[in-house]
Amino acid sequence: MLEVVRTEKDTFLVFDRTPFYAEMGGQAGDTGTATIDGHAFQIVDTIKDKSGRVLHKLAADSKQVPANGSTAKLAVDVVRRRAIARHHTAEHLIHWALRKTLGSHVRQAGTHKTAERMRFDFAHFEALTPAQLREVEQLVNERILDNAKVACFETDFDQKPEGTLAFFGEKYGKVVRVVDVGGYSRELCGGTHVSTTGEIGLIKIVSESAIAAGTRRLEIVAGQAALDFIAEREAVLANVGSQLSAGPLDVAKKLDAVLAQKADLEKKLKAFEQKAAAGLSEELAAKATLKGDLKFVSAVVSVDAPDALRTLGTQVLQKLGEGVVVLGAALGEKATVVAFCSPAAIKAGHQAGKIVNELSQKLGGKGGGKPDFAMGGGKEPAKLAEVIQG
Ligand SMILES: [Zn+2]
Repeated sequence: MLEVVRTEKDTFLVFDRTPFYAEMGGQAGDTGTATIDGHAFQIVDTIKDKSGRVLHKLAADSKQVPANGSTAKLAVDVVRRRAIARHHTAEHLIHWALRKTLGSHVRQAGTHKTAERMRFDFAHFEALTPAQLREVEQLVNERILDNAKVACFETDFDQKPEGTLAFFGEKYGKVVRVVDVGGYSRELCGGTHVSTTGEIGLIKIVSESAIAAGTRRLEIVAGQAALDFIAEREAVLANVGSQLSAGPLDVAKKLDAVLAQKADLEKKLKAFEQKAAAGLSEELAAKATLKGDLKFVSAVVSVDAPDALRTLGTQVLQKLGEGVVVLGAALGEKATVVAFCSPAAIKAGHQAGKIVNELSQKLGGKGGGKPDFAMGGGKEPAKLAEVIQG
């Protein structure tokens, strides 16, 4: 080991040589262990600094720090590295499949590969259709089943095979590394890959979205992460299926039936509610008091919305013929009142607006309206009975 590099937060180890891959080109850095004098130091990330040194990050809870010059045995977490390599190689296939499906204007515009997921940003002017997503996924999985060889070789930049994708704005040295997948996908790339496409296992596209105007993002899982993704979905489907008492293939049909039944019940419920409201207006009209030629109804009722109170008032006045209807209801924290006056009642000097204004003030609020109809209320629903019947 050459030296220990300390920053404000972290401690890094630098070795004269290392099998650890430092985060680059969107590929996550390796993790693993550095065994020094019998003690295994956990390496939780690997990055490169500006001068090109590979920094092996020590776990934050590492109490010991090895001395400069000690000999270390480095071991990369191979399982994780292989999972990253699957996602990385899948990226090459996705890039190829997108260009095949959407056109050669598709250009990688940012990417990130971890053991769990691959993110691929690219230039394209619109959202991918479900059919296009299926096609991309299908194309990639076909190539995985093909088990094609993944070859990496170095060559002069000027000598690279025709059709090799290099990225504008990226600086390449004289000698570049070409990664060739099955002879159909060629890119300049310095990351770690599987040796045949079959090792990827399978891929699933998890999501497609826009991250900026003209830039789309695909999220993909490969290998074990893809199996986990499918297993999770299957568990959800099985759970829904068991609640619907339907097998996976019958869930949609069963759900349609349940939704149709729900719509039917809602229709029936509405009819019952209308009947009940009609019964209530009948009941209220029957309790009207007669003064001269006019009938008067005032009552506190229970309804679930201001509109229902208004509808009920209209129905009661219809049944009365000529008269005055005043209704109040507590709706949550508020008291709502409505008043209706028939033409003869208005002629006799009754005004819905005035009635509601007075009642609302007593309920700690405001309200008013026209002579024939007014609506208002206040913040003290507890006073409703006293105010309306009083
Ligand atoms: Zn690559």
